[in-house]
Amino acid sequence: MEERAALLARVSAGHGTEIKDPATGEVIGRVAFGTPGDVAAAVDTAAKAQPGWAALDDQERCAALMRAADAIDAHAEELAYVVSREQGKTMNGLGARYEAAGCAAWVRATASTPLPVEVLVDDGQSRAELHYRPIGVVGAITPWNWPMIIACWQIAPALRMGNTVVQKPSEYTTLTGLAIAAVLNEALPPGVLTAVTGAGDVGDALVRDPRVGKVMFTGSVKTGMKVIEASAGNMPRLTLELGGNDAAIVLPDVDPQAIAEGLFWGAFINNGQTCAAMKRLYVPDAIYDEVVDALAALAAKIPMGVGLDEGNVLGPLQNQMQWNVVNRLVEDAKVRGARVVMGGDPDAAAPGYFYPKTLIADIDNAAPLVQEEQFGPALPIIRYTDLEQAVEWANGVDVGLGASVWSADRDTALAIAARLQAGTVWINSHGGIDPRVPFGGAKRSGYGLEFGVEGLKAVSVPQVISG
Ligand code: NDP
Repeated sequence: MEERAALLARVSAGHGTEIKDPATGEVIGRVAFGTPGDVAAAVDTAAKAQPGWAALDDQERCAALMRAADAIDAHAEELAYVVSREQGKTMNGLGARYEAAGCAAWVRATASTPLPVEVLVDDGQSRAELHYRPIGVVGAITPWNWPMIIACWQIAPALRMGNTVVQKPSEYTTLTGLAIAAVLNEALPPGVLTAVTGAGDVGDALVRDPRVGKVMFTGSVKTGMKVIEASAGNMPRLTLELGGNDAAIVLPDVDPQAIAEGLFWGAFINNGQTCAAMKRLYVPDAIYDEVVDALAALAAKIPMGVGLDEGNVLGPLQNQMQWNVVNRLVEDAKVRGARVVMGGDPDAAAPGYFYPKTLIADIDNAAPLVQEEQFGPALPIIRYTDLEQAVEWANGVDVGLGASVWSADRDTALAIAARLQAGTVWINSHGGIDPRVPFGGAKRSGYGLEFGVEGLKAVSVPQVISG
């Protein structure tokens, strides 16, 4: 066995459901999936460990998180191997090694963010302070697109604030979820982080457990709505990160060659399977052909293939369900008469869930490929002549996670950014995130913030001390 496959072997069960590499179909391990009945035991463990963990002072918890980040570094290549084999992303590029390194960086940043007591009033007559206390047990429900780092985004702040965590990875990427939990647990006291496996019914049981005081959920809008409904019984606090359909608006003053790379990776990072990837590109008539040509020339050079092949930087889609979504939307665009600039011709007989890099030009804004989230490597490029129309189109969906404006003039870009209904608007880039900067959605992209000091506050109970 390859040395870097040791962690995958460690978390793989000797029996249960076969897990297949989405690039090749090869069996890489097995999972003995849990059931809703397993949730109670996991929450028990977390609830028992919580008072002891909360009794540590903040510095001690931060020191444990720093050791957990060191453990991630020590196992970085093994973690990258697990996620590449199970999720499909390439080892190189913005892929598996990038995700593993990001996990360590994020855990360290979470342990380094100051959260001082806020003195609200101190006027000689009265004094009021705002403290942030632990909630108790946090349920962390994670998706399959960035299965390690999203787990760290949920787990690290929750632990930092004195909570314990029960994590439920997506059934599509269970081995990765178990692997990151195993590595973090090398540095954490027993019971502070527990993973439960299983499908959506296990996530549902976690939301409904009366001892869970907070649910961190990242996934689809549809499931997010179910989480809201399930939470009504016990009212756990919720942070919902539900993806989006990010628009990018290019203004006529840009140099198409200069922005092509930023546009490409904004859309195609992780094969488009990224909550805040660019999913609709609005380009003015005046430079439309130049932008499309520059993007196509760049895309043609990007190698796609099996994740373990060091030469590739884009892999397959993670699962058949997502492949079907992308294929349906592209086929519909063709029927509508949109222009296929490249791609759109998957080889259904080939192994794995590969879908080629696809650029669709001259597409109607009303087409489903524009209006629905494709979550894959197929970018619709919509032509506009009137900027007001482009802004209206950008805002014309019911989600609003991210958006971007591309212009040589910052003031013009800022004026457009202010009118876009999105939690983050990037200028001349798309999708970049930073552990110091809060991240969250507008409209049905969810509510609650992650990252930075706002992210710490979101996994705690504010308590006013008055007098
Ligand atoms: P889901 O929203 O169904 O899955 C997200 C997580 O929720 C998974 O762990 C899932 O478990 C769990 N879950 C499923 N049902 C419930 C429930 N009733 N209560 C609690 N937890 C539940 O996403 P999908 O995997 O179905 O992906 C569908 C679409 O979601 C994609 O096409 C994409 O548009 C979007 N998406 C957005 C992501 C983002 O980053 N915001 C990430 C992934 C997908 P399990 O997987 O085991 O069913």
